Parts: sequence; C-alpha cells; structure tokens
Amino acid sequence: MNLPAPLQSVVEEFSKFPGVGAKSARRLALYLLRQDPEQIDRLVSSLNGLKTRIKFCSICFNIGEEDICDICSSERRDKSIICVVEDINDVIAIERSHEYNGTYHVLGGVLSPLNGIGPENLKVRELLSRLKGEVKEVILALNPDTEGEATSLYLNRLITPTGVPVSRIARGLPIGGNIEFADDATIGRAVSGRSKF
Ligand SMILES: [Zn+2]
Repeated sequence: MNLPAPLQSVVEEFSKFPGVGAKSARRLALYLLRQDPEQIDRLVSSLNGLKTRIKFCSICFNIGEEDICDICSSERRDKSIICVVEDINDVIAIERSHEYNGTYHVLGGVLSPLNGIGPENLKVRELLSRLKGEVKEVILALNPDTEGEATSLYLNRLITPTGVPVSRIARGLPIGGNIEFADDATIGRAVSGRSKF
C-alpha cells in the first residue's frame, strides 16, 4: 500500500540518514506517529538547535556552542601539541580515551582525488597557519586506510619544512580500521605510543 504522503515524506527524510534503510526509516516514522505532540515539538526544537546553536571552532574546527571550542579555550590543554583528525567523530573517540591533553585540528575529510576532494577542500591552510606559534608537535591521527595514508604523507611533506616535528599514532589500530569505532584502550595506546613520522 502507498503510505499517506505526510508519513511517506518523513520516511524519505529518515532514509537519507547514514545506515538507515527503508525499513528502519518506516519504523522510526511510525514510532513518531505514536508519540504525543509535545514529544514531537521537543524533537523538532532539538533538531533546530543543531543548526542554530552549534558552531565550528574558529581555531580547530571542532564543534561547540561558542566561537572557540571548550578544548581550545581550556587552560588545562597543552596548546603546543596539535592532533590532526579527519572529523569530529575522531575528536570524540580520542577524548573518550582520556590519554590526550593537547589540542586538535579537524581537517573535515581526507584527500580523495576520485571524489574530487583536494587540499583546498580541507582545513589544510588553516592547519599550516597554526604552526607559526608555539607548536612543538603535530600528531597525525588519520585512519589507516589508503586515503588516510595519502593524506598523512601529504601533510608530513608540507609540515616538515616548517621545522615542527610530526608524529603519527601507533599502529594499534587495525589496517583499514576506523578510529571512530576502535575501543578506548586501543585509541589510548595508539595516541600515547605515537612515533616520529
Ligand atoms: Zn577548537
């Protein structure tokens, strides 16, 4: 049977989510249909908050509610170390391990010529401009897959002439694995056991 149009439209929106197929999308939409209007209002206003209240840090491009994120503005973080990651999920994963006390730089992706993603599409220039200060180490913490490796090599080549030492996280992560899905202990070991690039 054809779903009524308002329901179908919600199903279509949910189907766009990563990892949500048509069946799960329908289940979620039907779940919402059974909720009271207050619950729906709360959901809508929290979704609106995503776009209106979340900001990208002007230094590291992590998320927060201010122009500068909690990590960059914290007195307790070591500003002389920058850990370069692909996206915000990686910041969350590394923070969860409680092994790292420096700052981050969120690239917003990795080099991917096939998908038309070059250095100009990533926060590469912004990273280089941060190296002019008191930075003593850049840690490359990109995923150990082909694109992550190519991006690490590229960044190492750019950073080395600045004189700032570059290291990379240890190989505790499975080849082709993803930082986001590694367990806390593995991430902790990978960060603390980093080595010179
Ligand atoms: Zn920041």
